[in-house]
Amino acid sequence: MDREQIWRLAEEQRAYTIAARRHIHRNPELSFQEHETAAFIAERLREMGYEPRTGIGASGTGITAELAGGRPGPTIALRADIDALPVEETSDLEYRSARPGVMHACGHDGHTAMLLGTARAMATARALIPGRVVFLFQHAEEMVPGGALDLIAAGALDGVDAVFGLHQSAQLDVGQMSFGPGPRQASTDGFSLTVLGRGGHGAMPDTTVDAVQIGAQLVTALHQIVSRRVSPLEPAVITIGTFHAGTKENIVAHEATLTATVRTLDPALRDRIPLEVEAVARGVTSAWGADYKLDYRRGYPVLVNDAEMAGVARRAAEAVLELGAVFTQSRPIMPAEDFAYYLQQVPGCFGSIGVGTPGTTQRGAGHSGAFLLDDAALPTGVAYYLSLVTNFEALRARTGDSA
Ligand code: MN
Repeated sequence: MDREQIWRLAEEQRAYTIAARRHIHRNPELSFQEHETAAFIAERLREMGYEPRTGIGASGTGITAELAGGRPGPTIALRADIDALPVEETSDLEYRSARPGVMHACGHDGHTAMLLGTARAMATARALIPGRVVFLFQHAEEMVPGGALDLIAAGALDGVDAVFGLHQSAQLDVGQMSFGPGPRQASTDGFSLTVLGRGGHGAMPDTTVDAVQIGAQLVTALHQIVSRRVSPLEPAVITIGTFHAGTKENIVAHEATLTATVRTLDPALRDRIPLEVEAVARGVTSAWGADYKLDYRRGYPVLVNDAEMAGVARRAAEAVLELGAVFTQSRPIMPAEDFAYYLQQVPGCFGSIGVGTPGTTQRGAGHSGAFLLDDAALPTGVAYYLSLVTNFEALRARTGDSA
């Protein structure tokens, strides 16, 4: 499909996509509670002639749909996340959130609308679509354990050759996109560490095992794992976000609990950090005669784009966007994404699509009540997906350059 055909199909969906996005924006739902959103998506898909699979996951809010193209080709999965955040919207848009304290503050309404528009465009042009297209409308991206694992467990990636997805970026203008190979987003793990000491009178500390004092040493020692046990060339974050202990100034606390988030961009380092945490916890507590309880929880893995697929994605965008509007991502970011789980199963690429209004500089941050998504961006997402799917084999054959 050439550029002109692709844009004609994408433009045909402009009004539909924007209306769908505004409906979803007005009616946001939290992770694992996306019942109305899922029903809305399923109903739209049925109108287009799809037979969506609904009720995926324990929450029953995941949805997939499939299109059998009119000619042979690969099976490509496209993913949108559908959940919102516990954030109060501060805008006065006419389609602002109608639910107090809940908002599409991460643009998942836009992701969902783009994918609905893509499914609708492809349904009208089925004869021109190669292979099979699997649409993943995934619940609960914003809450570990996430919805991606539910879709994978339901067989959504069976027979899939490559998987692609987009996330909005307010740093980029409408009409711009960016892609990059390799690790793009951090793993998100965390732990809770409880120091088990022995309480007593604050005036007789030598008869106690002070959990506050040991906890304080742990705060500094655990943070030093990054500076002393991890190469300065490898990104890692350990942030101890909470420290709870004690009841009164003259009572030595018998227990202190620290909780932390841990981010890494290298799967091997990700596996090593819990061992380092355990070593520090064991060493510091045993030095003072205390015991400890460590509960280390793994969240989303490192998101690693396949190098070849990142090149395919970039070329698919270049084929439909203005010259100079497609960028190579320079640096990864530390926020996590459960799209990472799909990439552990099949090669693919997670890219960024600009949603900032050109000419503006004040742009509300994602996950804030002031976040704004310019929905003029939606046809760009549709055009990108059409370009990617209809020309996948040709884009893949054009190796030579990479993302
Ligand atoms: Mn998001």
